[in-house]
Amino acid sequence: MEQMVSKVLLFFQTQFLDNKTRFMKIKFITLLFIVGLVNSQAQEFTEQDTLRGSITPERVWWDLNYYHLNIEVNADKKFISGSNTIRYEVIDEKEILQVDLQAPLEIEKVTQDGQELEVKSNGNAHFVQLKKKQRKGAFNEIMVYYSGHPKEAENAPWDGGFSWKKDSNDKHFVATSCQGLGASVWWPNKDHMYDEVDSMLISVKAPKGLMNISNGRLRKVDKKTNTYHWFVSNPINNYGVNVNIGDYSHFGEEYEGEKGPLDMDYYVLRDDLEKAKVHFKDAILMMEAFEHWFGPYPFYEDSFKLVQVPYLGMEHQSSVTYGNQWKKGYLGRDLSGTGWGLKFDFIIIHEAGHEWFANNITYKDAADMWVHEGFTSYSENVFLNYHYGKEAAEDYVIGLRKNIKNDKPIIGQYDVNSEGSGDMYYKGSNMLHTIRQLVGNDEKWRKILRGLNKEFYHQTVTTKEIEGYISEKSGIDLSTVFDQYLRTADIPVFEYKLSDGVLKYRYTNVVSGFDMPLEIMNEVGQTIRPNKEWQTAQLTASVQDIEVNRNYYVVTKKID
Ligand SMILES: [Zn+2]
Repeated sequence: MEQMVSKVLLFFQTQFLDNKTRFMKIKFITLLFIVGLVNSQAQEFTEQDTLRGSITPERVWWDLNYYHLNIEVNADKKFISGSNTIRYEVIDEKEILQVDLQAPLEIEKVTQDGQELEVKSNGNAHFVQLKKKQRKGAFNEIMVYYSGHPKEAENAPWDGGFSWKKDSNDKHFVATSCQGLGASVWWPNKDHMYDEVDSMLISVKAPKGLMNISNGRLRKVDKKTNTYHWFVSNPINNYGVNVNIGDYSHFGEEYEGEKGPLDMDYYVLRDDLEKAKVHFKDAILMMEAFEHWFGPYPFYEDSFKLVQVPYLGMEHQSSVTYGNQWKKGYLGRDLSGTGWGLKFDFIIIHEAGHEWFANNITYKDAADMWVHEGFTSYSENVFLNYHYGKEAAEDYVIGLRKNIKNDKPIIGQYDVNSEGSGDMYYKGSNMLHTIRQLVGNDEKWRKILRGLNKEFYHQTVTTKEIEGYISEKSGIDLSTVFDQYLRTADIPVFEYKLSDGVLKYRYTNVVSGFDMPLEIMNEVGQTIRPNKEWQTAQLTASVQDIEVNRNYYVVTKKID
């Protein structure tokens, strides 16, 4: 139902936009009211959500090729100004192009080949009327000039924007974060995840005496203006792009990785340098574990960096940001409650895990955000598996279950930039851990995880593609398992009765056709395949009770 509503909205919007004389004039209030009447149960989404979250007709006809973001950051005035050059390939010959930029930032002008273009705005979506004939296969550029006081982050990185902070020496310490909210909160771009730019130059004029660290490699520093030019040579998602300005000190090391030498660079506040040299030893341990389990680090050409910021941290591509206060765990806490979570710095391991799942394999639609967070939550247990063994990893991921709420499905609503349940983290990792049991062969499972990173290398994906790949490579039809854990909020209940060695069992609370095998532990051990119907198995008469292998994420209920 909800998906239908957004399609209806999109349809109407398309009709309106094709009618150029009334272009952007028509309000949706009446329509939303009618939709609201038939859809009073559904979560409310606005026209702005649809413009932000769907592949609109003004987005679909052009393919991003290159950005040059060129800005000055005035930290004293909390003001930014500059331009973004957007180069694109024409796929379909249309003349209206959507660019996103969020208020209070303002577009000053948009040009193509030096000619100023007309722009009609609808909230944060700006529709550029191109003059030049857009020929299929051509690479064209527009330049978007903008300025203003960007939204200040209220609770970075979740409620992001610009964090304007000072370090302990009263020097500016500035950083951006914008996942969910969207990169258009601080720079103009095509703010939808399906289309990643192929490469990008980020030029930032920073306040005198301070450095700017962004993504990719530092190409040059213009000393006269204190402008830092960073070049990203790989596809990058919008929210991964970041600006970090501070009184940084640098140190680094070289890692002998699967694709050769990888430079790992660390940028921390001057006063934290000695602390960081000890604490960042987790970075190499992370790289070893993840290359083993997930395959080569996906951005050798752009190096790997950890950059200190004045907030907790974020998976900014090739410049992972760090603010976990030099503590192990999550700000010193173990999310699993088992003790294993204090063996590593959560932010270094988790945010760097996103280089494989978020930055390498990126969701097309925010509804599929579990592809980032489920796998990356799982990466924490993979780290433990590599360095502390399988049992530690199991303890940890099972320990995370206490954080699962089962409030709503993990997959959100498509086309409106909507995330699903926060269960995407811990339930996502426990679903993957359960699938590892079903695959029943750790080498095969590792090949699947590595295979995902090869098959979908530098791509944007849907849940369906990930599901299909895992089912195909494991040789197991996992469709009902994914449906159960991703598309409902229900956890399978394994019900059983046991008397005189006769075991009766079934599943309740499951989707139609759900018959996931389970391993029961008794003196012999046995795999059974429950479904919704009662089934019977003969155990030896001396068996008093059974125990389900704890690695399967189900609820067990004995019926007397
Ligand atoms: Zn994450």
